[in-house]
Amino acid sequence: MKEFWSSRIINATPYTPGEQPRDQIFIKLNTNENPYPPSPMALQFMADALGPDLRLYPDPECLELRQAVADYHGLEVGQVFVGNGSDEILSFCFQAFFEPNLEIVMPDISYGFYPIYADYFGLKTRLVPLDEQFDLPFSECANAAGGVVIANPNAPTGKALSLDSIQRILNTNRNVVVIVDEAYVDFGAQSAMVFVKDYPNLLIVKTLSKSRSLAGLRVGFAMGNTNLISALCCVRDSINSYPVDRIAQAGAIGAVQDESYFQTTRLSIMKTREATVRKLTKLGFQILDSSANFIFIHYPGRSAKELQEGLRDKGILVRWFNKPRIDNFLRISIGTDEEMDALCVAFKELLA
Ligand code: PMP
Repeated sequence: MKEFWSSRIINATPYTPGEQPRDQIFIKLNTNENPYPPSPMALQFMADALGPDLRLYPDPECLELRQAVADYHGLEVGQVFVGNGSDEILSFCFQAFFEPNLEIVMPDISYGFYPIYADYFGLKTRLVPLDEQFDLPFSECANAAGGVVIANPNAPTGKALSLDSIQRILNTNRNVVVIVDEAYVDFGAQSAMVFVKDYPNLLIVKTLSKSRSLAGLRVGFAMGNTNLISALCCVRDSINSYPVDRIAQAGAIGAVQDESYFQTTRLSIMKTREATVRKLTKLGFQILDSSANFIFIHYPGRSAKELQEGLRDKGILVRWFNKPRIDNFLRISIGTDEEMDALCVAFKELLA
């Protein structure tokens, strides 16, 4: 029943996030969370923020956090936006930069939220099919009427685009905003940050949810020309002046400043990924080259959905997408070495 629902939402198809079980009995490899805890510095900064000052609103400008991000990336404060997770920032982008009748170019297989935002905000898309190897034919992204949205590395494939390809997309789309979602970039892809100074239409979106182990805090960043950042502020301030709370701002500063913890944990995940790829390849899986904290895998002759259900029965959650072209693949987040060993054992049993 949808009584009292507005016409805006009555036909909306919302995003379905991966399962978040209430009990801890599962090995959770289904939503690309980081298996390591947040940085001790982040936790300490949050503990310090838990006090009487919580009666006060947070800094609506998130100045200290934006300064920390700007320092980290060699930018000015005015080139950084902070939001309540990168999903919120992406939704702001669709409102800030795109027009109803001008098609937004995006890959046919990519992060599921992009077409959902487009639909929700009444925008049109032009889907560029990935090739047989799930690579983006970047020349087909040229001359987008409304804008371009890509994830690098892509999700759920994990495949990275070269900087050269990204630059070609930028060179052939100078009059629209090009959004590069770098949610997973820290796990092995090259960041397009180097192009920010030369392309006033480039916006890079990042998150603390993956490589900084803070999915539960909900903090994301956007970086680009000050003009684009001002547009995002305009959307935010038309909806909610304080989307990033005091504890989140404090914890995020700690996470951004704890470089050694960041390096140790991200390298550890990349090492576990390579070991897992070797083991699963031996078992007969076909695995796309991943530059992310997940792998996208396929077992010839076996149904991915059945494998997912079999793993679930054995206490392991992985993600299966009921979508054309990828419905025989599983997306598996990289956990600890022990979790990935348990995954390999479970697969061996299921395949036997
Ligand atoms: N972009 C991509 C490609 C993602 O996979 C995700 C995580 N689901 C996000 C953005 C959103 O991340 P968050 O809102 O946690 O920052």
